[in-house]
Amino acid sequence: MALLQISEPGQASKPHQHKLAVGIDLGTTNSLVATVQSGVSRILTDEHGNAILPSVVHCGKDNKLTVGCDACPYAKTDPTNTIVSVKRFMGLGYKEVKDFKNCPYKLVENGNNVQFHTAMGDLSAVEISSGILTSLKQRAEKALGGDLVGAVITVPAYFNDAQRQATKDAATLAGLNTLRLLNEPTAAAVAYGLDSKEEGVHAIYDLGGGTFDISILSFQKGVFKVLSTGGDSALGGDDFDQLIIDDCIETLKLGELDPTQMQKIRQFSRIAKETLSDNDFAEFNCVEVPYRISKEKFEVLSKVLIKRTLLLAKRAVRDAEVKMSDIKDIVMVGGSTRMPLVRSMVSDLFNQPVLCSINPDEVVAKGAAIQANLLAGNKSQDEMLLLDVLPLSLGLETMGGLVEKVVHRNTAIPITRAQEFTTFKDGQTAMSIHVLQGERELVSDCRSLGKFELRGIPPMVAGNARIRVEFQVDADGLLSISATEETSGVKADVIIKPSYGLSDREMEKMLKDSIIHAKDDIKARQLHEMQVEAKRTLEAIDSALAKDKKMLTQAMIDDIMQARAELKAVAKNKNEKIIKEKMENLELVSVTFVEMRMNSTIAKVMQGHKVEDFE
Ligand code: AMP
Repeated sequence: MALLQISEPGQASKPHQHKLAVGIDLGTTNSLVATVQSGVSRILTDEHGNAILPSVVHCGKDNKLTVGCDACPYAKTDPTNTIVSVKRFMGLGYKEVKDFKNCPYKLVENGNNVQFHTAMGDLSAVEISSGILTSLKQRAEKALGGDLVGAVITVPAYFNDAQRQATKDAATLAGLNTLRLLNEPTAAAVAYGLDSKEEGVHAIYDLGGGTFDISILSFQKGVFKVLSTGGDSALGGDDFDQLIIDDCIETLKLGELDPTQMQKIRQFSRIAKETLSDNDFAEFNCVEVPYRISKEKFEVLSKVLIKRTLLLAKRAVRDAEVKMSDIKDIVMVGGSTRMPLVRSMVSDLFNQPVLCSINPDEVVAKGAAIQANLLAGNKSQDEMLLLDVLPLSLGLETMGGLVEKVVHRNTAIPITRAQEFTTFKDGQTAMSIHVLQGERELVSDCRSLGKFELRGIPPMVAGNARIRVEFQVDADGLLSISATEETSGVKADVIIKPSYGLSDREMEKMLKDSIIHAKDDIKARQLHEMQVEAKRTLEAIDSALAKDKKMLTQAMIDDIMQARAELKAVAKNKNEKIIKEKMENLELVSVTFVEMRMNSTIAKVMQGHKVEDFE
């Protein structure tokens, strides 16, 4: 996804009217809140000076919700009531999460949605997440001394609309006005001011505690576009800790360790790893025995893991269809990018220094704060706002199971697009509007977002009704659709909030499939269109015969009926040529009939001389 800069007239405010707005990095393990003060973005800390709020929520007895550091100890003592990575569940359905590994929670199916069965009752991911947001909101209001006008909340670039909607719902529940959802890599790019630099392609390398994400963004004509995303949801700082754990066990020839000892080694190893980022040696006492590891050895061990991230980065560059040398900046995000070897190997891959001057834990929240400050209107009128683009095309089902794209992928949002459709049958008074998402030509290959009906269309001949379907996509990629029959003004509308959505893999697959199957799709579309055409021709001839059969001799009727029967027999055939042949034959034998009708008073208003023009 990407950003477009537009000016928001009339939103400038005088310095004394500075509105309080924040940027929130709602992370899987940790969350942060930042704001811009005197032109500088800074992280807001809690009363103890802590910047990071662990994304941990304990749902205790007596409706006692505990969030952050205070909730962390419960992860061990009361794991089923302590939700530690709610972000993984946001916007997903029960079927999608029921097989999550290492998930100690009792999950409850609730329609399409999933809930956590806790001592506080069954709670959704949105409710849990709103606990984190409430805590950050309170922290910000306390630090800033007033009510917030709103927040920019960051989400992974691959989040689909259901996951984005869930994030927005969590904010609403927390009493936060979402100024905008912003992609995490885009926020990082903004923190480094890449949106005020010249146009170019940038890589955002994000190595956290448990995950690795790489995003390739292009910045062009004021728009940040996500060209590709990649990564590994099971590769992060924890794997580097494991290298030290394994080395410690092997070096000290430790046998079986109990869980408490294991837990201790894990903690020590993590500290040792972090120490090695600034020191040549790290040591700790493991099971009463001293263990020591050199930076050199750790780096030898680490190389394999880092190489894996580099392979994924190369793949993302390839997917983005750009060259390595096209990458102008590499932004480092996530605590694990503090490791000097990570920085140097990434820098070697791209053959240039990486951007790492901003604290990699804080860069996303700081970028979001810069956006929030702009959106709240604290900047002059000349300043620009950033908007996203649509990740997948949106369209409607048309006859024959085809998809008519109304808003194309990568269109900058918010946007309103309208398209006119018409009825297929004489006297049709209702129309089913089926909204789809995806790049493929056939309904069966796209993702259904929802269906609604427009009823009360005045009966007219096929093709005469004018149904205007309007798609509105707001700044967060959420869709509302209205359908209006223009002659009568009959209207129906719907807001699409999919109850569960696509995973990043599925989204990626949909895009890839559309490329792989492009040729087949065109063929399939042509065949479907021909089948629809045949059906329409048959309906038109039937309707004309019903009204004006009396104009014809029996021989003419026989000829037409014969040609009609032949077309009907092949109308659903998979061979486009055969359908075309039979359709042309029916048109040929009907030419005189068409002319006769045209000459008659009924057909005065008709034009053309094809069978489908009979009506
Ligand atoms: P994040 O998920 O972005 O907060 O990253 C957390 C990961 O960063 C954990 O695995 C930390 O051990 C790791 N990390 C934090 N500081 C350092 C450091 N100085 N050197 C190496 N890794 C670090």
